[in-house]
Amino acid sequence: MAKKVTRREFVQTTTAAGMALGVATPSLGQAPAIRTGGVRPIVIASNNGHTVKNGGPKTCVETAFELMTKGTDVLEALVAGVNVVELDPADSGVGYGGLPNAEGVVQLDSCCMHGPRKRAGGVACLEGIRTPSKVAHAVMEQTDHHLLVGKDAQRFAAGLGFTVEGDLNTERSRGLWLEWKRRIDPEHYLDPRKRGDAAMGAGLAMVRDGLIDADHFWGTINCDGVNARGEVCGVTTTSGLAWKIPGRVGDSPILGAGLYVDNEVGAAGSTGRGEANLYGLCSFLIVELMRQGRSPKDAGMEALRRVQKNTIEKRLLNARGLPAFGLNFYVVNAKGEHAGVSMYASQFAVCTENGAEIMKTEPLLPGRAND
Ligand code: ASP
Repeated sequence: MAKKVTRREFVQTTTAAGMALGVATPSLGQAPAIRTGGVRPIVIASNNGHTVKNGGPKTCVETAFELMTKGTDVLEALVAGVNVVELDPADSGVGYGGLPNAEGVVQLDSCCMHGPRKRAGGVACLEGIRTPSKVAHAVMEQTDHHLLVGKDAQRFAAGLGFTVEGDLNTERSRGLWLEWKRRIDPEHYLDPRKRGDAAMGAGLAMVRDGLIDADHFWGTINCDGVNARGEVCGVTTTSGLAWKIPGRVGDSPILGAGLYVDNEVGAAGSTGRGEANLYGLCSFLIVELMRQGRSPKDAGMEALRRVQKNTIEKRLLNARGLPAFGLNFYVVNAKGEHAGVSMYASQFAVCTENGAEIMKTEPLLPGRAND
């Protein structure tokens, strides 16, 4: 059972006055009810699902839960929830104001899955649109495809009426990018490995120096919900790894990695080091383990153990010989049982009829990634 986070442990992210960008995603309407059952409705998310509000009255999980329990399609409710985080400039790991890539360009990834309708959509390397989750949803609703990328994803969205902006940086995200540039030596370009290590090292040093919190160096939101009819959906959206090589796509928009949903079983999604998750397609693995009877927590822990086992490169290990990165999974089964699990101690958000709260995840390993 996940533990509630005490007031002291809960570091509230400040909200800045937000800008709402209303782009209506065309919808095919209400999802058909596949099953009726007495499931206790629940929405879970990474912890930023209950920290930022974009200047409004509700966080992501509160928004999604309210819409879902009033009858809105589960996925539409979840997308409306993560829009709060995407649009909030205070969250520098998602949407508008997300930390940019190595060239200073904000590139966004997202995917979504609709359990009852067995549909999915995603976008990667999307520039200029604050709400990539809405574009992922539009890919699901409007096309036969599951993933559109780069300029063509942007063109697709523009064709549907999404506003395309020249630059999604905020003053803060651009300022942090300039600081990162200042810390690396571009002369190392001739040795890509050395330069890559230097770039990662400079980024991690900025985390250690308190300029970026770890959750926003690798920042993302995953949000999953089950309504009273047992309909399961999920969405993941991110600006990806800060200062990534342009064109890098992490786990977030990849079905089976950043998110997987099976309406009969449940949903799993992730935040943290995308490469570690991509290697094992852990969200798919977690759902498959639940299908075989594991609880959300046990299934998530098994995926983390596999990631640990696959992490053998020295550059990815800390002084204790353990993974030197964070990775979190948010897991809910079709009965509404749920867990937040992580490589090291972390937090996640839960919303039920009793309200929203930040809970502690179950960590696989003691201490912190950098210890
Ligand atoms: N998983 C995301 C990625 O690798 C980043 C994150 O969750 O922090 O792109």
